[in-house]
This record gives sequence, structure tokens and C-alpha cells, in this order.
Amino acid sequence: MSTPLEPGQDAGAGPAEFIRCEWQHKPAELAATHADFIAAHRGHGPGNMGDCDTFLCVPECGNNTSSDGFFPCRADGSESDDAGEGLYRCGGCKRIIEQATGRVVGRVLDGGQG
Ligand SMILES: [Zn+2]
Ligand SMILES: [Zn+2]
Repeated sequence: MSTPLEPGQDAGAGPAEFIRCEWQHKPAELAATHADFIAAHRGHGPGNMGDCDTFLCVPECGNNTSSDGFFPCRADGSESDDAGEGLYRCGGCKRIIEQATGRVVGRVLDGGQG
């Protein structure tokens, strides 16, 4: 497995970014009515996003699965028909996310696909 990174990206300089589990970041008022969801998602832990179906992007973006969504993509960020690559692209900021860990491994910069 290689890690796709564009030249000039600061992956070596700054801390890695991770998306999060939306259910692990729900406001308290939802915790009362959705305790089962929250308990289930606590179970997969923050670093095991392969078992999570409700992504929440980095704070700067804030996109989630029910907003702009996340789409299977290839290492270069182009859309893929299936999730075989194990990568997802944020529908908001177009970060490329490694599904298994939730780690941001790149970003589509040109917005060519609108
Ligand atoms: Zn989750
Ligand atoms: Zn995003």
C-alpha cells in the first residue's frame, strides 16, 4: 500500500488529519434519544473507520454523510464505481480519506468535478 500525496503537501510537516465518527461527536441532546447508535459507534473506536458508516469530516470542513456525503474514489481523487480502493473523497472539501483509519491522505485541489 502506498500513500498518495501531491508534491508540496505538508504531510511530513504537520500532524496527520483524521475524519471522525459522526456518532462519536453528536450533541448531548441526541445522546439521550440515540443512545444505541452512540454506543454502537463508540465500539468501533476513533481509528477504525472501516466499521463506520457515518463519517464526519475534519473540523475545518464539517461535512458529514447526510450532508454532502463521501464518495468512493481512487488514489488520485477521481470517482470510483466501488469502494475497492478503500478510499473516499469528501463531497465538501474533497479531501481523500483512507476508510480503514479515517486518515486524510490527500486532497483534490482543482475542483474539476464540481
Ligand atoms: Zn462510527
Ligand atoms: Zn471535508
